[in-house]
Amino acid sequence: MNKHKKYLHISFLIKGGKVVGSFSQSGFSGRGKQFDCQYDVDIIPSTHAERAAISSVPIHNHKQLKRCKIFSIAFRNIDNKICVHHAKPCKTCCKMMHKVGITKCYYSEANKQKLLVCNPSHIMKETDNSIGLKILNIKKYMKYKVNYVLTIRNLNTFRLIEKRQKQIEGRVWRGSIRTLRPGMVITIKCNENNLIARITGVTKYKNFYSLLKTKLKKTLPNVNDVNRGVEYYHSFYSKNAINKHGIVAIHLVPLF
Ligand SMILES: [Zn+2]
Repeated sequence: MNKHKKYLHISFLIKGGKVVGSFSQSGFSGRGKQFDCQYDVDIIPSTHAERAAISSVPIHNHKQLKRCKIFSIAFRNIDNKICVHHAKPCKTCCKMMHKVGITKCYYSEANKQKLLVCNPSHIMKETDNSIGLKILNIKKYMKYKVNYVLTIRNLNTFRLIEKRQKQIEGRVWRGSIRTLRPGMVITIKCNENNLIARITGVTKYKNFYSLLKTKLKKTLPNVNDVNRGVEYYHSFYSKNAINKHGIVAIHLVPLF
């Protein structure tokens, strides 16, 4: 590692004790787009070391990637001391590994002497998008004005939306709720927690029963009984308000 370099992330593939492809470093160009299209993964703005390692094997030889072990190791220069650094693969890289049949990824972690190991398909769901992808998403959605704030009182509810388990927020169709339209990008807020989400649909119903009858799991993932769900909503809204305004199902997809 060059002493002027502050950060180095390398990756390589091993199969039967031999290196497959080549030792690869992370970079900042958009290389590898062909790969992303072929495997239908998100296009990441920079070349992550893991992707560079996988892409170093020509696509027609990708059969040999099956059951390769992939190593992802980062180093950081802190006050002229070279330390290992966090190199857990991001969501897109995990997807990529999974799609080519890699089941073991060894990665470094700051202040840990040993490499950690994971199965990319298992951690695909839990790991975060890379910072690059987040920035790309922010840029993509900057053109929308994100000025509507939907406040959620219950933190558990907020977490369920974040985890995409709760895909529908039910509200009485009144006040500012009536301005919501499909395609709008809004902020969902619960105390200090924020997330940006896109509204993919706005469907009106007569009452909560008619919504929950068909969409219970998407609206209240933790409730098993429609009547329980109706009771839950009736603890926030008066029957009068529901009869007068009707209710609306706001379909949400969290962006970041
Ligand atoms: Zn990555």
